[in-house]
Amino acid sequence: MFTNQDAGYDEIREGVRTLCQRFPGDYWRELDRRSAYPTEFVDALTEAGYLAALIPVEYGGAGLDLRVGCVILETIQRMGCNGGACHAQMYTMGTLLRHGSDAQKQKYLTEIAAGTLRLQAFGVSEPTCGTDTTRIETSAVRDGDDYIVTGQKTWISRAEHSDLMLLLARTTPREEAAKPTAGMSVFLVDLRDETAGSVTIRPLETMMNHSTTEVFFDGTRVPAANRIGEEGQGFRYILDGMNAERILIAAECVGDARYFVERATEYANEREVFGRPIGKNQGVQFPIAQAHMKAEAAALMVEKAATRFDAGEPCGAEANMAKYLAAAASWEAADMCMQTFGGFGFSTEYDIERKFRETRLYQVAPISTNLILSHVATHVLGLPKSF
Ligand SMILES: Cc1cc2nc3c(=O)[nH]c(=O)nc-3n(C[C@H](O)[C@H](O)[C@H](O)COP(=O)(O)OP(=O)(O)OC[C@H]3O[C@@H](n4cnc5c(N)ncnc54)[C@H](O)[C@@H]3O)c2cc1C
Repeated sequence: MFTNQDAGYDEIREGVRTLCQRFPGDYWRELDRRSAYPTEFVDALTEAGYLAALIPVEYGGAGLDLRVGCVILETIQRMGCNGGACHAQMYTMGTLLRHGSDAQKQKYLTEIAAGTLRLQAFGVSEPTCGTDTTRIETSAVRDGDDYIVTGQKTWISRAEHSDLMLLLARTTPREEAAKPTAGMSVFLVDLRDETAGSVTIRPLETMMNHSTTEVFFDGTRVPAANRIGEEGQGFRYILDGMNAERILIAAECVGDARYFVERATEYANEREVFGRPIGKNQGVQFPIAQAHMKAEAAALMVEKAATRFDAGEPCGAEANMAKYLAAAASWEAADMCMQTFGGFGFSTEYDIERKFRETRLYQVAPISTNLILSHVATHVLGLPKSF
């Protein structure tokens, strides 16, 4: 995604590309059939240190910036693999890094960087509140040295393949909080702790293989020592991690868009109908050119957002715009690629339909297109709020 003059990024991109070549289309197709998690792929990324790229050197990570995280995820997607299996660790660890205590960072970041602990689950969404996060109902009530957590989360991806979950819960009921965004707190829930009480994880079946689940907390004990930062400030902590999440996922979308453009170009050059390559027809080549331009434009916005994030500058507007533009580019490229492949696009053998299903998610998660439009309209342009 970034310029070729930068040897550091080239080296990382090349390393990721080489790793991904060990996980070709048939690996992903076979997992897709079984709705199985890509354990070998995630293990390989962990062993190579890519999932610890953003963890500071003092905790055993590579101490690289968000732009490098973007390069890693973009390359994974462009190679036809799926970073959705493990991307959360790159953004959830930021909340711990920025707001956790020294003891928490020492304990958890060191193990995450060593690859012995997985922080892949992010527990925000609930069935009843939708995008209005201030209406979450999962509660955490203080009881001595613990909090007792009760409630239900939904769409919690990778919960079965993570040791820890970063959980947002209400510590003060909404009606009693100073404002709707106050009174929520963030916890590191150790999903391995069998003494904690009931945590039930139920897989959800979805149109693509995403290892997403419902999670039920039934009086689960979470030590107060596992609360991140101050009680009641959780929404703020989660929000600043969301900029990183949006930028990283936008980079994945750019990777998807480039994957579709490259596959469509190859196919349009090879496939002959009416005695000539289909790519000779402008009706076929123009949509490919259009998808390419939109992907490259989105890549520039992703780079701008990541650069501002790394410089510690406000980047909410850019992170949202990058996510919107990149998700739009990947979805348009996916549709274009299906059309270019004709009937063969629908055959699982070519992976186009799998990537098509996978990239559709980013119109909705982690934030839907309408909510980004609303953010830009009201927060960036100053138009009146509609809700
Ligand atoms: C496969 C998958 C994986 C996920 N993984 C996770 C995860 O790991 N952790 C987690 O916490 N969450 C996760 N999510 C949840 C995801 O973040 C939400 O689905 C997303 O934020 C949208 O929320 P919702 O589904 O409740 O939609 P709703 O809020 O119910 O909205 C439904 C539709 O209405 C639109 N809408 C709502 N309000 C307005 C408005 N005021 N103006 C205009 N349009 C509006 C939305 O844009 C959307 O299109 C995942 C979701 C999926 C599908």
